[in-house]
Amino acid sequence: MFCEFCGTKLEKKELLNEGMIPYCPNCKEYRFPKFSVGMLAIILSPDQSEVLLIKQYDTSFYRLVAGYTNKGESLEETLIREVKEEVSLDLVSYKPLTSSYWEKSNTLLECFVAVAKNKEVVPNYEVQEYKWFKLADAYNALDGAKLAYKFFDYFMKNN
Ligand SMILES: [Zn+2]
Repeated sequence: MFCEFCGTKLEKKELLNEGMIPYCPNCKEYRFPKFSVGMLAIILSPDQSEVLLIKQYDTSFYRLVAGYTNKGESLEETLIREVKEEVSLDLVSYKPLTSSYWEKSNTLLECFVAVAKNKEVVPNYEVQEYKWFKLADAYNALDGAKLAYKFFDYFMKNN
């Protein structure tokens, strides 16, 4: 790893209460590792008996609507923008559920639980299939979508 400002090779240096942190000996500054931020959305039907799942990237399993947070954007803005973009739904309410770091994409992901205004999905080009599932049936559909499954399971056990 190199310093993003001056290009010097980073060293590891002890930082009180933080452990060994990358350090630029030229800038004399700690350089904390960078990661992306994004969100997943458990989108519920207006009566909250069903959840909207989508298929993307030619996988056999379904997944949750998700997306990366743009620079300058809040997680809530990401949620509203991505839901509108991917499935063209408006939300009547939403709340954060839990979050988890996903190593594969070096992303910290927040999971929201949101209630849709109606069930009239208009998928965009990124969405190959979509379906409203009864909550109990969503487990099977999400099998294979590791993080989405974990978040959905958390939701079912904590709501
Ligand atoms: Zn530097």
